[in-house]
Amino acid sequence: DREEPQHFGAGPAQLPTKVLQQAAKDLVNFNEIGLGIGEISHRSKEATKVIDDAKLHLRQLMNIPDTHDIFFIQGGGTTGFSSIATNLETAYLGKTGEIAPAGYLVTGSWSQKAFEEAERLHIPSKIIFNSKDSDKNGKYGSIPDESLWEDKIKGHKFSYIYFCENETVHGVEWNSLPECLQNQDDIEVVADLSSDILSREIDVSQYGVIMAGAQKNIGLAGLTVYIIKKSILHNISKVSDDQLFEFGIPITPIATHYPTIVKNNSAYNTIPIFTLHVMDLVFQHLLEKGGVPAQQRENEQKSASLYSALDSHPDFYNLPVDKNCRSKMNVVFTLKNPELDSKFLEEASALKLTGLKGHRSVGGFRASIYNALSIEAVENLSKFIKDFAEKNA
Ligand code: PMP
Repeated sequence: DREEPQHFGAGPAQLPTKVLQQAAKDLVNFNEIGLGIGEISHRSKEATKVIDDAKLHLRQLMNIPDTHDIFFIQGGGTTGFSSIATNLETAYLGKTGEIAPAGYLVTGSWSQKAFEEAERLHIPSKIIFNSKDSDKNGKYGSIPDESLWEDKIKGHKFSYIYFCENETVHGVEWNSLPECLQNQDDIEVVADLSSDILSREIDVSQYGVIMAGAQKNIGLAGLTVYIIKKSILHNISKVSDDQLFEFGIPITPIATHYPTIVKNNSAYNTIPIFTLHVMDLVFQHLLEKGGVPAQQRENEQKSASLYSALDSHPDFYNLPVDKNCRSKMNVVFTLKNPELDSKFLEEASALKLTGLKGHRSVGGFRASIYNALSIEAVENLSKFIKDFAEKNA
C-alpha cells in the first residue's frame, strides 16, 4: 500500500494505485494459475485473452469503428516515428503506384523529432509549418491559424499528414482536428497521442493512424498502441520489397511491419504481456469510472484550476503558451524571478508535491496532470501556487 502520490512528472507517470495493486498480485499469481502473467507463453490462452481484452476495452473507451484495427508494438513513441514513416509511405505507394511527401505540422520538440526521423530514413517529407517561425517569441507556444497554412495542403499530394496532438515538453495541445484535415478521403491523418490518449473524446474515424506510447495516461513504458484504418494495412500489403527498392523507400523491419503485427494479433514476436495487462487494467479502471467523458470533465476541472491559479498572479508567473492551445495535460510555467526557482521546488516537495521541474530544454516548471492525478492533488498544487506568489511577491 502507499499514501496517494501527488507526482506531476511528465512520464513515466503516476498510475492508479488500485491498478498497481492488482498488477502486483497478477505478477506473482495470475488468475490462480500458479504462475505470474509475465511467466507464461505469449501465445497461451491467458495471454491471448489479455490481448483481446485490451483491444476490446480500448475499442469501447474510444468508440473505435470497425474500419480500424488496434495493435501493440514494443518500444515507445520513438519506434512510432520510424515505423509510421516507412509503413505509411509504403501504403501510399500501394494505393497510388507512386510516392509523395509526408507533411509534418511542427508545434514542439516531439513533432520535430518525428519529422527528423522520417527525413533520416529518406522518406520524402516536408514541414507544412513550424510554429516557432510564426511565434512572437520565436519559441514553441502557439499554433498558427489554419488560414496561414491550409493552402500548402489543399490540392497537393501527401502520403500522410502528421501532427502531435499534445506536445509534452512545451505544453502545446491541439484543441481539435484542423478543419482542412476533417472528412478528407484522400489525406491520411496521423497523430501522436502519447501524452493525451483517453484524456478527452475524439472521433477516431477521422484518423488514418493514432499512435501512443503507454507510459503517461495508460500504463508502463515498453509498449505503444496503434489504431489504424484497415485500408492502410491492405495498401501496405500490396507492395513488394522490389517495388520499394525501385522507389528508394526503405523496407520496414519485420518487428514494426504493421500488417504482419495485425495478422498475428500483436504476438508475431514476444509481446510484453505484463505491460499489456497493466494497460488493460487501466482501461478497465477508466470504464468503471465512467469512461472518457467522465475523465474529460475531470481533466477540464484540473487544468482550469491550475491555469486560473497561475493567471491570478500575472506579475509573478509567466505562461509561455497561447491560451487557445494550452495543454490540459502538461501545464508549463516559469517564475518571473528565476532566483526563486529552487525555493519553489523545495517548498513544493515539503508538501509532497513532486515531479514539477520543467524539461531541461525549456526550464522553469511543468505540472503534468495526467488521468491518474486526483482532483485533490491538483487543488493542493493550485493552492501552493497562489500561496507561494502571495508570500514571495
Ligand atoms: N511523443 C510524445 C508526445 C512524447 O511525450 C514522447 C516522450 N515522452 C515521445 C513521443 C517519445 O516516447 P518514447 O520515449 O517512449 O520513445
